[in-house]
Amino acid sequence: MMKMTSLQELKAIGTELRKELVVKHSEAKMAHIGSDLSCLDIMITLYFRVLGKDDHFILSKGHAALALYAVLHKKGIITDQVYGTLGKNGSMLGEHPIYGIKGIEAATGSLGHGLSIGAGIALAKKLDGSKGTVYVLLSDGECQEGSTLEAMNFAGLHKLGNLVAIVDSNKFQAYDRTLIPDSQVQKEFDTAGWTTKRIPGHDFIELESNLRKTSAAPTLYIADTVLGKGVSDMEDKLEWHYKSPTKEQVDEFVKKIK
Ligand SMILES: [Mg+2]
Repeated sequence: MMKMTSLQELKAIGTELRKELVVKHSEAKMAHIGSDLSCLDIMITLYFRVLGKDDHFILSKGHAALALYAVLHKKGIITDQVYGTLGKNGSMLGEHPIYGIKGIEAATGSLGHGLSIGAGIALAKKLDGSKGTVYVLLSDGECQEGSTLEAMNFAGLHKLGNLVAIVDSNKFQAYDRTLIPDSQVQKEFDTAGWTTKRIPGHDFIELESNLRKTSAAPTLYIADTVLGKGVSDMEDKLEWHYKSPTKEQVDEFVKKIK
């Protein structure tokens, strides 16, 4: 039987990957480190404590691709050789995930499509009587997209209890605060027949206990997170949605990550 990753190990992985992401973002000159750091703990919990062989994971907020690559690499799903190409010409590892990379289930370059893809997989599994849950990680900004709301209604109508949507609620979208408050999003999902709950997005114990729960209805978790979590200079600062750390900032930021 495979050994479970302990809470202490999860925290150590969080620290290690935060440091790694600061370096990788700087080297590759890629944006969206703030977004990576806001949803990293959710993905670590999923990959190291929750996902089983019959489960699926879709990163709808494709701009957090580097965090997904880092987690998949730590799990041994993305090889050292592939991970080493990040930021280089010809690499498969772009700023948004694409098909053809081991462990990536959906290309999510245009935002707002992950929940539709996840709902389709969940319905197919339900019709087939297949085991497993489909997890979709969305940004809070994506909850305003019409395609997300169509998938919400579809999943509610078909009572897709094997579908779990997690919103990385870092309270920013692109160049400003989110336009529609989470409370409104939660109301809309409630009305569409989903089970909804607000949870802390950086607490491994809370994340695991909630994400493991099953329900007869599709489930929405609004996870309260912080943009740039773990790097004090970046936390809740809009500029880290689009900036990458300079060479000079890397050492300073890495030193501060606990
Ligand atoms: Mg956001």
